Amino acid sequence: MPERTTATAVPGAPVEPDEPGAADAAEAADPTGSTQDTGSTGSIGQLLALDRQHVWHPYAPMPGSADPLVVESASGVRLRLAEAAHGQRELVDGMSSWWSAIHGYNHPVLNEAARDQLGRMSHVMFGGLTHEPAVRLAARLAEIAPGDLEHVFLSDSGSVAVEVAVKMCLQHWRSLGRPEKRRLLTWRGGYHGDTWQPMSVCDPEGGMHQLWSGALPVQVFAQAPPSGFAAEPDEAYLAHLRELIGQHAHELAAVIVEPVVQGAGGMRFHSPGYVRALREVCDAHDVLLVLDEIATGFGRTGELFAAEHAGVAPDVMCVGKALTGGYVSMAATLCTPRVARGIAAGSVPVLAHGPTFMGNPLAAAIAGASLDLLLSQDWRAQVRRVGDGLRAGLAGATGLPGVREVGVLGAIGVVRLDHEVDLAAATRAAVRAGVWLRPFRDMVYAMPPYVTDDEDVARIAAAMCAAAREG
Ligand SMILES: *Cc1c(COP(=O)(O)O)cnc(C)c1O
Repeated sequence: MPERTTATAVPGAPVEPDEPGAADAAEAADPTGSTQDTGSTGSIGQLLALDRQHVWHPYAPMPGSADPLVVESASGVRLRLAEAAHGQRELVDGMSSWWSAIHGYNHPVLNEAARDQLGRMSHVMFGGLTHEPAVRLAARLAEIAPGDLEHVFLSDSGSVAVEVAVKMCLQHWRSLGRPEKRRLLTWRGGYHGDTWQPMSVCDPEGGMHQLWSGALPVQVFAQAPPSGFAAEPDEAYLAHLRELIGQHAHELAAVIVEPVVQGAGGMRFHSPGYVRALREVCDAHDVLLVLDEIATGFGRTGELFAAEHAGVAPDVMCVGKALTGGYVSMAATLCTPRVARGIAAGSVPVLAHGPTFMGNPLAAAIAGASLDLLLSQDWRAQVRRVGDGLRAGLAGATGLPGVREVGVLGAIGVVRLDHEVDLAAATRAAVRAGVWLRPFRDMVYAMPPYVTDDEDVARIAAAMCAAAREG
């Protein structure tokens, strides 16, 4: 088995480095595996060899040191593997492909939207041209977003949406003659993406700040918000936020946080009261508030946007991940007329950003169809049902040795361990139970598609328990 770098090397990431893949681990640790599990053969073996040699995977070394599972197709909530792993050819997806495939895979409505748009044009440049899918999507996002987030910048990924948000905020102040307001404040435990500015506001311990110290812009960090969605806001912590923002207000362009759920930075829930407090303090000190809803948007936490738990609207909001129902990459940065006016007041009155694939018609058409699909059903009931199923299925996990806490919010389930998870062992346990999970750091978690039926939710919860027991 290849040597494993310690998972702590990149704990801020949604994944861990070069863990042995499940198939690998099976051979090493599970001599009782069925014969079809004894190794990749023929063309699949070849594919994996090429993968190892040529293909960079997330947070992975090159050449690769672990064999990923090869997925052949996906439909509904199931991933179909090219060959069985631990006796399973199909896995229920507990991850929604990093929280994006909320309607499941190969959905007839989204397929139709894609086919229809392909027949017109899959792409056309956005400079000097526009098209119905992007216009309708932007208008729809502005309509459903909290507050007066009227203006929409479409981009290709969540990290870019955060870059654009940061650029908007800095440029707003620069244009208003206050260029010294160019730092950001966030709280610890966050994750905002892997490009440069987002990295600078990721958790400094988990976000590889050490690797990049001296190179990344130095931002202002508050303590992580105390855990617990239902917990009363802690007065001392509120005072800490007020004091820190007040102290740095003269140099702060914006406060940027993930509202209510910190995702890839550690899957922690906090009181909406803290988000409310940030809104008040930012207003009092002339600092913009950016809410990164890339993980939490489109119903995942039980509200359409997590900001709604707090009853506040940000000045700038980022969405991504589930925007296209997990079909293709697209993200958006929304801002208020106030932010746009500030930018327009400058000597350079334009937002100097324009990705080649900005407003991509294919992605926009699918995103529009995905939003229609979501809003045409009782998504709130679906999310609640998935959450209830996870809660019921995870009830037994609380007593397991090594389990510190179990939490469910919206359609998110988290089992936190008192140790760093053994990724290979946990993955193997989940795959044996017929479920795809991707634990990280000290937790096993699931964010299933909203369409996951009760039986499959129970299966995901059972797999989480097995992963927690064996990981
Ligand atoms: C995933 C994520 C991002 C980054 O999005 P990418 O599409 O991976 O670039 C940013 N912020 C949050 C909160 C995320 O969960």
